This record gives sequence, C-alpha cells and structure tokens, in this order.
Amino acid sequence: MFIESFKVESPNVKYTDSEIKSVYNYETTQLVHENKNGIYQWVVKPKTVKYEFKTNIHVPKLGVMLVGWGGNNGSTLTGGVIANREGISWATKDKIQRANYFGSLTQASAIRVGSFQGEEIYAPFKSLLPMVNPDDIVFGGWDISDMNLADAMGRAKVFDMELQKQLRPYMESMVPLPGIYDPDFIAANQGDRANNVIKGTKKEQVQQIIKDIKEFKETTKVEKVVVLWTANTERYSNVVVGLNDTVENLLASLDRNEPEISPSTLYAIACVLENVPFINGSPQNTFVPGLIDLAIQRNSLIGGDDFKSGQTKMKSVLVDFLVGAGIKPTSIVSYNHLGNNDGMNLSAPQTFRSKEISKSNVVDDMVNSNAILYEPGEHPDHVIVIKYVPYVGDSKRAMDEYTSEIFMGGKNTIVLHNTCEDSLLAAPIILDLVLLAELSTRIHFKAEDEAKFHSFHPVATILSYLTKAPLVPPGTPVVNALSKQRAMLENILRACVGLAPENNMILEYK
Ligand code: NAD
Repeated sequence: MFIESFKVESPNVKYTDSEIKSVYNYETTQLVHENKNGIYQWVVKPKTVKYEFKTNIHVPKLGVMLVGWGGNNGSTLTGGVIANREGISWATKDKIQRANYFGSLTQASAIRVGSFQGEEIYAPFKSLLPMVNPDDIVFGGWDISDMNLADAMGRAKVFDMELQKQLRPYMESMVPLPGIYDPDFIAANQGDRANNVIKGTKKEQVQQIIKDIKEFKETTKVEKVVVLWTANTERYSNVVVGLNDTVENLLASLDRNEPEISPSTLYAIACVLENVPFINGSPQNTFVPGLIDLAIQRNSLIGGDDFKSGQTKMKSVLVDFLVGAGIKPTSIVSYNHLGNNDGMNLSAPQTFRSKEISKSNVVDDMVNSNAILYEPGEHPDHVIVIKYVPYVGDSKRAMDEYTSEIFMGGKNTIVLHNTCEDSLLAAPIILDLVLLAELSTRIHFKAEDEAKFHSFHPVATILSYLTKAPLVPPGTPVVNALSKQRAMLENILRACVGLAPENNMILEYK
C-alpha cells in the first residue's frame, strides 16, 4: 500500500511551528585491538551515541543557477521542470505522454514506513522531510554560448518535437548570463560556441559572478540560491604548493591572475565567498585543496564530483553485488560512445583524462572490503574507453564486460549494453542534488558530547548517491556502493524525524 504522507508520534520527536526536533540513538561499534596475555585480538564493543537533530521546516523559495545552463543537461532540466509545473502532455508514436520526474530519488522513489495488517506500507521519499517542490524552482545561470533556452533545447535534440513546441514559449526569453571562458581548460572544439563571455581578470570574473548571484536573488525574489556546474568537463588543474594548496595561496593566486585557476574553481570561489552551495557535476578537480579549505573556513556547502547517471551507477550496483556474493571481479572493461557536445568535448585527451579518473575509482571500496577475494594491493583490471560518434547524439551507448572468478577456478562473464539519452538520466539527478543540498542546509545536529548544534560538514558527503567520485572531507572514507549510499541518505533523513534506520529485518514476520 502507498500512503502520501505520515507524521511520527514518539517521545523522540517534536514538531513545532518552525522545526522538527528529534533525539536519535546512533548504534555503532568501537573497535579495540587488545593484547590479552601476549595475544592480540580484535574486540568489537557495541556503542550508543545519543544525537539530537533540528530541521528547519520553512521551505524556501529556491533559485537554481546552472553553469552551462544552455547545454543538454541544463536545457533538458529546465524544460522538464516547466513541463511538470504546467502539466504538459504530448503525443508520442506510442501514447500520450505526461510530464513526470522519473529517475529522481526524491520525487519518484519510495521508502518503507512499516507494516499495516500484514501489508508493507510505502511513502514517497520526499515525504520524509519538508523539501522544495521542484515545480517551484526558479532557474537561471551562465553559459559561454548566448543561445536562448528554447533554441538550446532544439540544439540538444533530446525532447520530442511535440513537447519542444509546447515548451518554446516558456523558454525563449530565458537567456544565459555570460560565462567565464578559458580555452586552456576545455577542448579546442568548443571555441565556436564561446560568444558570451565575461571579460577581465580572474578576480574581476569572480566579482562578476558574485554580482550575478546577488542580482538574480533580487530580481527573482528567491530566498536561497544553489549553484551547480553542468558545463563542459575541464582538464584537471595542476595542484601546486604555493598556487592553490591553501586558502591564502589560492586567494593570492587569484589576485595575481594565475593562469592555472580553472573557470570552475572561479565560480566555486565566488559561491563560497557568498555562502551559496556549489555542486560540481563534472569530473574535473574544481575543488583544489585551497578551495576545500576555504569552504570549510566559511562553512559553505560544496559537493561533487560528476553526476552518477548511467554506466557508473550500474557499476556501483553490480560490483557491490558480485563482491558481496563472494564472487571476484577480475576485469571490468567499459566502452562508451556518444554524439552530443559533451562527447565532442571529451574527445580531447585532457578532458577525457578527467572523466577516466572519476570513472576509475568507483570499485575501490568494494574491492578493499573483501580480503578473502583480493590480496592486499590486488585490483581488477579496469579500463574505460569513450568515443565520439556524432550520429547517436545524446543517446549514449555504454557497453560493459565484467569477468569474474567463481567457484573452483570457473570464470563468469557478464556483458551489458545500455542505450539511453544521457541528459534524461542526468536532469533528475541535478534536481536531487539541488533539493538535497538545500535541505541539508536546514538540518542541524549534535552528538551528546557536543555543546552546540552544527550543520553537516561543508563537504557534503550526504550527496554521494548522486555523484560518481564523491568528494569527502580529508581523512573520511569514500563509499561508492550505491545501496549503502542510498541507505545512508534515507537513514539520516529518518533520524531527523526520530525513526530508526531501515534494517530490513522484518522480525515481526519471522
Ligand atoms: P553540453 O556540452 O551539452 O553542455 C555544457 C554547456 O556548458 C554548453 O552549453 C557550454 O556552452 C557551456 N559551458 C562550457 N564552459 C562553460 C563555462 N566555463 N561557463 C559557462 N558555461 C560553459 O554537456 P551536457 O551533456 O549538458 O553535460 C554537461 C556536463 O555534465 C559535462 O561535463 C558532462 O561530462 C557532465 N556529466 C553528464 C552526465 C550525463 O549523463 N549527461 C553524467 C555525468 C556528467
């Protein structure tokens, strides 16, 4: 059975006019390596830490500014939200299709809330805590191409024509602000597109972005803004001592107009200085150490990197399943071909390298979790190939071969072939990223030994379900396994309303 909403009644949760307050007992373990009579042994001690959560229930009017607004993802997301808001439907060759938010964790997935008369009861994920309704988002942003969003949607060739025709009147007047363009960081083949750029030194460019955010807030009357990079993949920037390794060095480099500060880092600096959440949906290392420290210093949310939309999502499910089943993946080979502008940009070796890096570490935590299968330091062969094939447009092909060792020296090969419009996968993920980033800034909590409530760490690991190469604070483990990432997110939101984590034990029926 499906219920639309619910309220928790418990001594552990209190709903006020402005907040939901909860007390949550975090059941965890403490490990000790003890010397007992000359023999070392691991001792695991269950431990309970009492946490208090406070969630501000005022849902703000949200503005989302996309860097790369006129790209395939930007135009698809903007059009998709308008279509939902306006209740648009259109005829395809199969049926009358209505706008929906399929593919969005917050809008189209469910959580289990319990059992009722022998039936499992589910509710929308978004019913856990008050969240911004995506229909109410005001979009804006920057692009180095001045094409309006209606034409950009046509250029993207993602939506059916019937839908495009209905969306055009809403999107024609949407024109991206000039963007920060540096041809050194993206492929040379993007040069023709760059007719809408901010002039001046890097410091002036950062100041312009800050001014743009302020003006956007003023004109749209939104209460909060989230900025998200869905512009072209940049090459990695060099991390150099004295250049971008500390806050002071990064800001001094900005003053000196150092060429090695990438456009994405410039947008991120502007956002951190303005205390506006900044999310990086591409693979490059926007978050150089000096920028991460700046975000920590200013307690300003940063999250990334690279949307986890297709091939990597499958990988973080399949390898988790294989390793979890005691099967040993020994070779993982992933081919992609795509024909959109992202594919054209990735055909340059430096930008491809950024993608290769973000795609390649995704199995590490799963491999490291099972030393029965892998010797220390052993790793499956893992190869990633991306080719640009214009004809297929946004309809990306991903072909994967997983070879594993099974019982008694046997070999098992699984082959996947995935065809899908890339932007239709990415757009709902962008939506989840901005909605969850906004929500997370309204949650404050403290452990029993802490004096004051605080926000989540500014490096937002809570978003990791949605990113290929989750950015984590220094010294924090990276979790890539998709089911663990989802459980983490769901269970934290459950804790905010005083509910126990979903443990799937269903003991009442055992
Ligand atoms: P796209 O090329 O269609 O769009 C990118 C847009 O960014 C273009 O309109 C371009 O003009 C603009 N741009 C480039 N540099 C800019 C700058 N410095 N400032 C402002 N605008 C700039 O690409 P897309 O298909 O929309 O993908 C966007 C990004 O998302 C790519 O980096 C891609 O790798 C990443 N990504 C996409 C997916 C997916 O499934 N679609 C998954 C993971 C990551």
